[in-house]
Amino acid sequence: SRFSRLDRFISVQTGIKRKDVRLLLAQGRVQVDGVAATDIQLSVGEFSQVLLDGQVLQANTPRYVMLHKPVGVVSATRDDEHRTVIDLLQADYRHSLHIAGRLDLNSSGLLLLTNDGRWSRGLSAPDSGVCKRYRVTLANPIGEEYIQAFAEGMYFDYEGIRTRPAGLRILDTRVAEVTLTEGRYHQIKRMFGRFRNPVLALHRCAIGNLVLDAALAPGQSRELSAAEVADLR
Ligand code: URA
Repeated sequence: SRFSRLDRFISVQTGIKRKDVRLLLAQGRVQVDGVAATDIQLSVGEFSQVLLDGQVLQANTPRYVMLHKPVGVVSATRDDEHRTVIDLLQADYRHSLHIAGRLDLNSSGLLLLTNDGRWSRGLSAPDSGVCKRYRVTLANPIGEEYIQAFAEGMYFDYEGIRTRPAGLRILDTRVAEVTLTEGRYHQIKRMFGRFRNPVLALHRCAIGNLVLDAALAPGQSRELSAAEVADLR
């Protein structure tokens, strides 16, 4: 339901037991829409602002954000050295988000952030079959023989796994489109590394049927529409 009883809302948001919430109200520590609240049965709506000791209690609304990740920003929620993708967001709920599929520090493109763990796990699960599409610029010309090697998969010693079949389309002498259904550590760089061909630039264009919005400059973000969230596969 879109409405919740005040004591229940506070309990869900803070973990404080409902019987203890009564005390908070009696002590005048809760405000709803600017007014001290005393009634545990008060109905809290989607757009009500509830403060406890002056701090906003966020309603647990699911959030889905697409970001055009620039090069040089780290895909983490905290980092001592670099700016993080969270630092690029404006929304006041940005600290509640986690990253659904990281990109390397020097990679760019489509990054999804959410507070909905079920949705992000569904996206990144190896058997989800959701494709990630990348445009890759290489130092040296790309050989036709790469196509079969990518399709067959490569054995990665460190993890002791074979990569799943990957798509490689040669777009230009040194530019390829790569399609993966998984995301191993530095996977694309390591796959081209087998041919001693260094990756100069790596840009994620799409995750499943969701394409990076061309209106977003590097560093810009927007929320996904309900349809984009529901149709992502
Ligand atoms: N593969 C990589 O090597 N880096 C990325 O950021 C994504 C895929």
